[in-house]
Amino acid sequence: MYCPYCGIDHDDATTIRSIEHIVPYGIGGSDSLTILTCDRSNNELGSTVDAPFMSSYVVRAKRFFLGLESNKGNAPTLDLGGIGWIGGKEVPISYIISGDTKELKIGKPSVIKTPNGDGTEHWAVSGDPAQARQILEGKLRKQMALGKTVNLEDGTPLRLEDLDRILAERTKTILNPSVLKTTQHDYLEFARFFGKLALAMGHFHLGESFSRSASGDRLRKNMNAETMEEVTPYGHIWPETEPVQGALNMIAKEDHHTLVIMDGEVPTLLVSLFGEIGALIPLGEAPVGRLPTFSDRGMVWRIGLPSRVLRRLTILEMVEERLAPLRQPIRE
Ligand SMILES: [Zn+2]
Repeated sequence: MYCPYCGIDHDDATTIRSIEHIVPYGIGGSDSLTILTCDRSNNELGSTVDAPFMSSYVVRAKRFFLGLESNKGNAPTLDLGGIGWIGGKEVPISYIISGDTKELKIGKPSVIKTPNGDGTEHWAVSGDPAQARQILEGKLRKQMALGKTVNLEDGTPLRLEDLDRILAERTKTILNPSVLKTTQHDYLEFARFFGKLALAMGHFHLGESFSRSASGDRLRKNMNAETMEEVTPYGHIWPETEPVQGALNMIAKEDHHTLVIMDGEVPTLLVSLFGEIGALIPLGEAPVGRLPTFSDRGMVWRIGLPSRVLRRLTILEMVEERLAPLRQPIRE
């Protein structure tokens, strides 16, 4: 068998085949949109290319709100954590929401030591109560082994048996935490993901002659890129897609994945995931620095979410669907 991902003609007798979801199942891929690859490529790329893309914040948020389970049946969770302010201090916190629980965790416990000036130190311990307890117990046991004592602020000695009571008294329940969420968009991770998606889609629609061509090689290079210099063309992927945003808006549909192959001068793949994240990738050798020409010929695959139902339509049918609401008769 020929595997489009590694570009190798494998020995049929010894190679394990694998059904690859062109759009990964975990983000709403359909069982009706798959290709055959070698098992090794499928597994390796699943962790090097799919996993980083799927764990990006924007994708996790989409998965969570649409309730898209992984192929192992795991329900998505959403970590809204970031930097919070507790008692005037910046504290890393994680705020994890799953289907039925909402849990606020204060991230890395911190121990702030201040010298008292008499050779002793004042410690302030903050963080997740269970972790803070471990730290305190560890410090206390160490000091006890050295024959020293640890005193509370009021001067009374801290004893192991008092730890739970003291922590219970001082643990704060935080309601309405103020959290600043900063998210980073890693263009390289997205470029690798969309390179793989374009390779799979080209192989699916145009066949083996495509994945064996120079265009297939270019996409395999994008899929395995280690640096931005290896990504061509650059800047065709959301949110760097300003030049092609109009085209993405044309095909985007909320709560759907839309994949379009236009058979223009150069065959081109336009992808809109969740009606939001997208890319435009030439499947042929486009002249450098020029956008592919748009065409009304080609094919559209649209996956509804969270149903994963796949629909096939022509580009004209997609345009018609988009224009239909504008054609409602005007009521007097
Ligand atoms: Zn392979």
